[in-house]
Amino acid sequence: MILPKPTGEFEWTQESWGSALRCTALATTARHLFSTRQLTIPGSPTEDTASWSVLARALDLDSSRNALVCLRQVHRAGVFEAAAEIAARSPVAEWPEADIAISRDAAVGVTVRAADCVPVLLADRVTGAVSAIHAGWRGTAAGAVGAAVEAMTTRFGTEPRNVVAAVGPSIGPCCYTVGEELPGKFTSHRDAQRWFTRTRDGLRLDLWRATRDQLERAGVSAGNVHVSGLCTFDHPGIFHSYRRDGHKAGRLVAAIRANPKG
Ligand SMILES: [Zn+2]
Repeated sequence: MILPKPTGEFEWTQESWGSALRCTALATTARHLFSTRQLTIPGSPTEDTASWSVLARALDLDSSRNALVCLRQVHRAGVFEAAAEIAARSPVAEWPEADIAISRDAAVGVTVRAADCVPVLLADRVTGAVSAIHAGWRGTAAGAVGAAVEAMTTRFGTEPRNVVAAVGPSIGPCCYTVGEELPGKFTSHRDAQRWFTRTRDGLRLDLWRATRDQLERAGVSAGNVHVSGLCTFDHPGIFHSYRRDGHKAGRLVAAIRANPKG
């Protein structure tokens, strides 16, 4: 399998299931990864718990218990604060409804699933707190990444300038043609005009730029925002893409875990 080249701050790693993408700038602060389609992730909490165990092990988590928090994602900007005692309920009866998970508990990993939507992972270099965010156009219009930084600030005392952000594979500005009505959904964002480009094929939305701009507006330093630059639509052998594969598309997972203290 030929792996596409990510930007300089990302690298491919070999996991028990195959390849994963990690952000080198984030790796010093938090154990994390963005999966490929070689890891099959179930669509409900009770299915195929084996693949969750495989993922937990890749984050150096105790895979004998349920150490990963998954969300019932609804394309908004709701926040769920994860802690080990919540994840330990086994089997997880119901995933919490949210598109953002935050944690500073090293005994638990937080995850989001996506197939074209943008997966974003954050870590605070000082407090060690982490966040996983799922943001397609709806989540981006709802200001999901800004809500995540704010939640980390409120709950964990995070200072935004200490946050490192990794923006994983999603549908890129090369392929994301959108409806003419979409800019109207972004009127609350001052920068939104530059997220849309008119091309011969129609209007395109650049979710990577929108994510970067929103993180910077939330106080994250430009130099601490790392975008993989990999488009899910363009690499059918490696990534799932809802727009390309429709209802049968699988999901990629992004997962992060706060480093243990000491
Ligand atoms: Zn593309």
